[in-house]
Amino acid sequence: MALRLDGKALASTVERRLSSVVDAHATTVGRPPGLAVLRVGDDPASAVYVANKEKACARVGIASYGAHLAADTPSEQVLSTIRGLNADPRVDGILLQLPLPKGMDERPLLEAIDPEKDADGLHTLNLGRLLKGEPGPRSCTPAGVMALLRNNGLDPSGKRAVVIGRSILVGQPMALMLQAANATVTVAHSRTTDLAAHTREADIVVVAAGRPGMVGAEHIRSGAAVVDVGIHRKPEGGLCGDVVAEEVEPIAAALSPVPGGVGPMTVTMLLVNTVVAWCRRHGNDHGLDDLIS
Ligand code: NAD
Repeated sequence: MALRLDGKALASTVERRLSSVVDAHATTVGRPPGLAVLRVGDDPASAVYVANKEKACARVGIASYGAHLAADTPSEQVLSTIRGLNADPRVDGILLQLPLPKGMDERPLLEAIDPEKDADGLHTLNLGRLLKGEPGPRSCTPAGVMALLRNNGLDPSGKRAVVIGRSILVGQPMALMLQAANATVTVAHSRTTDLAAHTREADIVVVAAGRPGMVGAEHIRSGAAVVDVGIHRKPEGGLCGDVVAEEVEPIAAALSPVPGGVGPMTVTMLLVNTVVAWCRRHGNDHGLDDLIS
């Protein structure tokens, strides 16, 4: 039976660490850390995600400065809201919730976020910093995967890792983080031929293809660690991932569940980026380097 890579439990542990960093410095700084989640339009899933992020902020003592703009807001106005948040001294982290309404180009808006306040770690400058091994906010989902591996005694150093998916959101930064942790990394994607031949060689498989149930027993060698990033609503209700858990669990040494694996850690890393940015701005120690290396 595979070790369960429990993201919910680890997220609670990290939240306790964040609360104590906030408690240690809030009085001297004179304000709590602040995260602004900017939502444009009425995507129903986004409303739930934003509410979850704000609840998580409240649990660790981060102030939320959310803004919700109507779907027909002109891009210029979204841009000026972002610039306002860049200049707001109470705000340490800014997140533009995706997807945006149809027809609104996300790229110039994401690039307008001050890279030091980039809570999602997806700004071009911060992806460049990751590539060069320089400090900066890290992409939340892959940073959450690294924390899940390390905190379960799964050091990627010297291991063979396969990342399925090459998106800027997950696959690409995931591959960079695993390389930085001294794994030998293969990136598979939709044009990869004979995927199973690659994944069967791997000690660590991170699945981020966005295809429900695409990874089964035939893809995994005995004793591998498997991290399932995929998240899908099942027609009959409930959630599932990209991995067929019932098939992989008896073979793998470790598997992350869906829900309760990568998802909670993604939200937690948003909080980590915000608290770290707050500490950096005020020259305070945070002791969170293990989460953002
Ligand atoms: P995406 O659609 O942008 O990218 C998917 C990638 O998978 C692409 O690079 C594509 O080449 C690759 N791919 C698709 N089919 C493939 C196949 N058959 N074989 C090999 N590679 C294939 O998706 P994304 O934004 O990277 O997200 C991936 C999944 O992770 C989605 O299910 C998304 O909902 C989920 N996700 C979860 C979290 C979380 O917090 N749990 C966060 C982000 C994304």
